[in-house]
Amino acid sequence: MEKVYIFDTTLRDGEQAPGFSMTVEEKLQMAHQLAKLGVDVIEAGFAVASKGDFEAIKLISEEVDGPIICSLSRAVERDIEVSAQALKSAKRKRIHTFIATSEIHMKYKLRMSEEEVLERIKKAVSYARKFVEDVEFSCEDATRSRREFLYKAIETAIKNGATVINIPDTVGYAIPQEFEKLIEDILNNVPNIDKVILSVHCHDDLGLAVANSLSAIRKGVRQVECTVNGIGERAGNASLEEIVMALKVRKDFFGELYTDINTKEIYKTSRLLCRITGSFVPPNKAIVGDNAFAHESGIHQHGVLSHPLTYEIMRPEDVGFPVSKIVLGKHSGRHALRRRLEELGFEVSEERLNEIFEKFKELADKKKEIYEEDIEALLYQEFHSGEEPVKVLKFQVQTGEGMFPTATVEVLFEGQRKRATSTGNGPVDATVKAIEKALSLHPKLIDYSIKALTPNTDAQAEARVVLEYEGYRASGRGVDTDVIRASVKAYTDALNRALLRKEYVRKIKGEV
Ligand SMILES: [Zn+2]
Repeated sequence: MEKVYIFDTTLRDGEQAPGFSMTVEEKLQMAHQLAKLGVDVIEAGFAVASKGDFEAIKLISEEVDGPIICSLSRAVERDIEVSAQALKSAKRKRIHTFIATSEIHMKYKLRMSEEEVLERIKKAVSYARKFVEDVEFSCEDATRSRREFLYKAIETAIKNGATVINIPDTVGYAIPQEFEKLIEDILNNVPNIDKVILSVHCHDDLGLAVANSLSAIRKGVRQVECTVNGIGERAGNASLEEIVMALKVRKDFFGELYTDINTKEIYKTSRLLCRITGSFVPPNKAIVGDNAFAHESGIHQHGVLSHPLTYEIMRPEDVGFPVSKIVLGKHSGRHALRRRLEELGFEVSEERLNEIFEKFKELADKKKEIYEEDIEALLYQEFHSGEEPVKVLKFQVQTGEGMFPTATVEVLFEGQRKRATSTGNGPVDATVKAIEKALSLHPKLIDYSIKALTPNTDAQAEARVVLEYEGYRASGRGVDTDVIRASVKAYTDALNRALLRKEYVRKIKGEV
C-alpha cells in the first residue's frame, strides 16, 4: 500500500480567490476541521502577504495538532524569514518556496535569466533549510517551462535540501495525457528525483484539474495540492473531495494507493467552508452538491431502494452526506413515496398509501419536483383547515449606524393579536426575537441562510430557515426583494410547519 499525501491549500490558494477571504478566526475554525478531515499538510497562508495571513499561520501553528503547517514564500530571504517566524510554534512545519521557471514568466515578470533563477533557487531552498527540516519547492508555471531547464531547476532545489518538489499547472493549461508525460519525463531525467516526494498543483481553467492530478498520481506523484470544494484562483484548484473519492471508489483502477482522509468528514468540511465564505457549491457539484446523491427517475429510485449500489457508485454516508436524498417527481413510484413518508416519520397503511399516492400524482403533474414540505402538506391537508397557526400581521424595524437594531411586531396566534418589541444583533435577529416574544414560543434555530437570486441591488432575496420546536424539525423558505421580509416569511413558514407537524403527530397518536 502506498500513501498519497493530501496537501490542502484552501486557506492559501482558495482564500486568495475573490469572495473567499476569511478572518483569522474563520481560518482557525477551518483548520481545526481540516485536521479532523485528516489532511497531511495545511497551507495556512502566505505569511509575508499580509498581517492577517501572518496572524492566521501563527495561530494555526499554535493551536492545530496533527497536520504539517505550511507557509508560502517567494524565493527571497525576507519571505522565508517571515514564514519561519509565523510557523515557530508548529509541531510539524514546512516552508514552501517558489519561483517561475517558464520563459514568459522569467522574461516579463521576473526579468531574470535562467542562470539567475537557478541561483535564486539555490539560495532560497538552502536558506529555508536553516529554519526547518521540511522544504517544498515549486516551479511556478512548470507546464509551460522549457523541459531541460525545468529538470535543472528541480535538480538544483533537491541538491540544496528540498524535500518535496511541486509541479504546478499554474494557469490550468495542461491536458491529462500531456501532464502524465511531463511527470514521466521529470522522473526519468532528474537524477536525484528519488530523494523527494513529487507533488502536483493543478488549476481548473479548462475543467481538468482533478483529471490532471489523477493522471500524475498514476505516474508516481505522491502528494496532491487541492482545496475543499475546489475553490481557488480563477476557476479554482483541484477539488480535494473529488480526488480522494476517485482514489477510494476506483481502487480497482488505481491499485494499492490510499489517503489518510476520513471521508465521513467531507460533507461537513464542505458545508463549513460554504457557511464561512457565504459561497455555496452548485447543486450538481460532484461528491458534495445537494443533488450528488439525489435520484429522480422512478426506475433509478426503485433500484436504489432495492439495492443502493444499483445506481450509486458510493454511499452518501461514505462522505458524511445526510441521507440519500430522493427528490420525488412525477416519475417516482409508490416505493419511493412510502420510503419518504417513513423517513419523515409517518407510517401509513397500504390503503392510506394509495390515497396519498393519488394526490401525490396530481400534484406531481402540476409541479416538477416534490419536496419534503409538499409531502407533509399533502398529509396535513386532510385534517387541517388550511389556516396557518402563526401569521405576522405587521412589523417595523429600525436600524442604522450608532443605534441598536429594534423591531416591533404584531402577530396573530390562536385567534389573538399579540405585540412585542425587541432589540437584536441585527435587524433580522431583532425581528425574530420580537416574534418569539409575542408568541411566547422559543424554537431552536438550526440554520439560517440568505442569498440573492439575481446579481442586482434590487434582487429578490431567498431566505431559508431550519428550526426545531419541541422535537419537531421543519424548514421554511421566503422570497422577497426585502431581505428582512424574506427572512420573516422563511421563519414563520418553518415555525408553522413545525407547529402543524406537532399537531398532526399528536392527532394520529390520539393525543388530541
Ligand atoms: Zn495555485
